[in-house]
Amino acid sequence: MTRKDITKEELYDLYYNKNMSYLQLSREFGCSISLICKRFKRYGFEPSKNIRTLSKEGKKNPAWISGTIKRHGYVYVKNRTHPFCNAEGYVPEHRLVMEKKLGRHLTQEEIVHHLDFSRTNNNEDNLYLFENKSKHIEYHHLLHNLVGGILNGN
Ligand SMILES: [Zn+2]
Repeated sequence: MTRKDITKEELYDLYYNKNMSYLQLSREFGCSISLICKRFKRYGFEPSKNIRTLSKEGKKNPAWISGTIKRHGYVYVKNRTHPFCNAEGYVPEHRLVMEKKLGRHLTQEEIVHHLDFSRTNNNEDNLYLFENKSKHIEYHHLLHNLVGGILNGN
């Protein structure tokens, strides 16, 4: 059974508020992933790239090793069945490592911090979990002020 159409509001809510992946959306609406891509384009939502062009790019990309890509300095792992994978089916590796350590999925609020500030060092000992964004920012400010204080001799 295919549904007549997907409204902009429905798609927006499921994708941005409920963080559904393309795969999950296609199941939700009982249609193909390419139709979801078309609706994204029609409604002007990002991303404009469909899965096919993305995987082509991925193979050309030297950073692409067995389904791993680098974006914004972070390592992303292909995991299309993960409940919080992005539209292209990728999950940040540091979050996956933390989830494995905790034995549960992270909430959307939780932030994983890199203790040595290296975004690619996803060793579990280098990762620290903050319960939310503001706790994480608070930590960064505290550290910044501390280091500034030492440098200024205070
Ligand atoms: Zn941080």
